[in-house]
Amino acid sequence: MTIVYIGVGSNLCGDFTSPKQNITSAINALTKIQSIQMIRVSSFYESKPIGPQDQSDYINAVIKLETSLDPTDLLDNLQTIENHHGRERSQYWGPRTLDLDILLFGDQIIHNDRLTVPHTEICNRAFVLVPLSEIEPDCIIPEKGIVSSLVSNLIQAELKIL
Ligand code: ATP
Ligand code: CA
Ligand code: CA
Repeated sequence: MTIVYIGVGSNLCGDFTSPKQNITSAINALTKIQSIQMIRVSSFYESKPIGPQDQSDYINAVIKLETSLDPTDLLDNLQTIENHHGRERSQYWGPRTLDLDILLFGDQIIHNDRLTVPHTEICNRAFVLVPLSEIEPDCIIPEKGIVSSLVSNLIQAELKIL
């Protein structure tokens, strides 16, 4: 069994009435998979879009789970759930009904055709680090450090001392 952290995001409704409902529905779908045990879900956060700015704000959260799946099988499951929630990939970093990213897979470092883990942008995105720090402040990101320190580095990088 491996502890895994998943980053979740949505800024379109699709068949549901709100991005929040897409995220709640995705969490329910993950809970129903036998080889996955849900451990914790962060609060939901609102964030400004990265990339194209002519899209709605995002709702983001981070999930901690335990699984016996290997990383590729987990990604297959996540992409199936994204597709069931009407995910379309028309524009890079464009609006989406549901995005499920593998942030961390145990302490594994993975670089293959389908996966980069830890997620490449994990240390640069407050909408990932802040919810991750909420549920696991002592979590270690391989080759990067402890989440709580990485959050304060990120926040300080945006503030200039006068
Ligand atoms: P970003 O990765 O910058 O957050 P994105 O989530 O918009 O961008 P997608 O279009 O959802 O990117 O995914 C493109 C591809 O990224 C997927 O098909 C998947 O194979 C690959 N990928 C690589 N690493 C990961 C990961 N850690 N988690 C999820 N997908 C990943
Ligand atoms: Ca993403
Ligand atoms: Ca993604």
